[in-house]
Amino acid sequence: MSWENNVRRVVPYVAGEQPKKANVIKLNTNECPYPPAPEVAAILHQFDYDSLRKYPDQNVSDLVAALAEYHGLSKQQVFVGVGSDDVLSMAFMTFFNSDKPILFPDITYSFYDVWAELHRIPYQCQPLDDNFCIVKKDYLIENGGIVLANPNAPTGNVTNMSVLEEIIQANQESVVIMDEAYVDFGGESCVPLIEKYENLLVVQTFSKSRSMAGMRIGYAMGSEKLIKYLNDVKFSFNSYTINTVTIAAGVASVKNKAYFQEIVGKVIATRERVKVELARLGFACTDSKTNFIFASHKTVPAKELFEALRAQEIYVRYWNKPRIHNYLRISIGTEKEMDSLLCFLENYLGECGELQ
Ligand code: PMP
Repeated sequence: MSWENNVRRVVPYVAGEQPKKANVIKLNTNECPYPPAPEVAAILHQFDYDSLRKYPDQNVSDLVAALAEYHGLSKQQVFVGVGSDDVLSMAFMTFFNSDKPILFPDITYSFYDVWAELHRIPYQCQPLDDNFCIVKKDYLIENGGIVLANPNAPTGNVTNMSVLEEIIQANQESVVIMDEAYVDFGGESCVPLIEKYENLLVVQTFSKSRSMAGMRIGYAMGSEKLIKYLNDVKFSFNSYTINTVTIAAGVASVKNKAYFQEIVGKVIATRERVKVELARLGFACTDSKTNFIFASHKTVPAKELFEALRAQEIYVRYWNKPRIHNYLRISIGTEKEMDSLLCFLENYLGECGELQ
């Protein structure tokens, strides 16, 4: 017998590399290439650091109120956490306590199975079809909960709203979590369905479209009942999750709608341009509605391209996993960064004789 027999053993999630070197082109963790709203910088510069003596507002009231107003919800319908990873993990712990398996796609955000293992939740992965689309009937079976990313990651695909509504409607005995980390880049949000379905929890983040991955803000929206249950678990775990600086910076970001729309628009325009350029170089891309592109070259293996790019300090994401081992996930950077990527690929594929 050893103490090690009682350890909760987990295989942790592996996040994309965060290279320490300056001047790398970092297109591997779907960060936004543009700075946060200027008002966020103002908050940081003028921050009354004496206020740090006190604990933060455990109800995160100002940020909850700003988000509720932004989404046309009541404050009782919003929950804020330390990035959407924190919110999702807490939601798994709160809502998935059935003996029946929770359901999510075989190709999706690779944290879902890690949380399921951590919280000892049985789960079943439902295969996407050959076009990486979800198969509706796979979610119309008995289950202990459902998690869908829309748009999905790393494929970038969106699922039709009518299909999502059918799934939510058919599963009123379990909670359906909609992970909308990328929805601002061209997807359609399920937030309007919250009034109709008490079992729907929609999760969004400040990490992508609000350029604040380093601040760690994520939030959930749902019926007052769902949000109360989530708060009960949070206050049984750690009351002070969001710090004082983060609350003020988050509010400042939400208030500047024009800037938000401007940077999201820039990312979308770059994405569409790069999709066309990649097609010219022999890549097939999914119809991504996110801030990344999921691309496979017709002849050159993704692993080879990943390594060649990395050697040039251009970081993209690659998974050596079934069904997606020939794809690269490329985050949308600035126009200049994407030009460097395209220029490198053009030269590399040219030298391989792939562009005749
Ligand atoms: N959901 C999906 C689908 C993601 O890709 C990510 C980013 N890795 C997250 C949630 C978590 O993002 P964050 O914790 O930064 O809000």
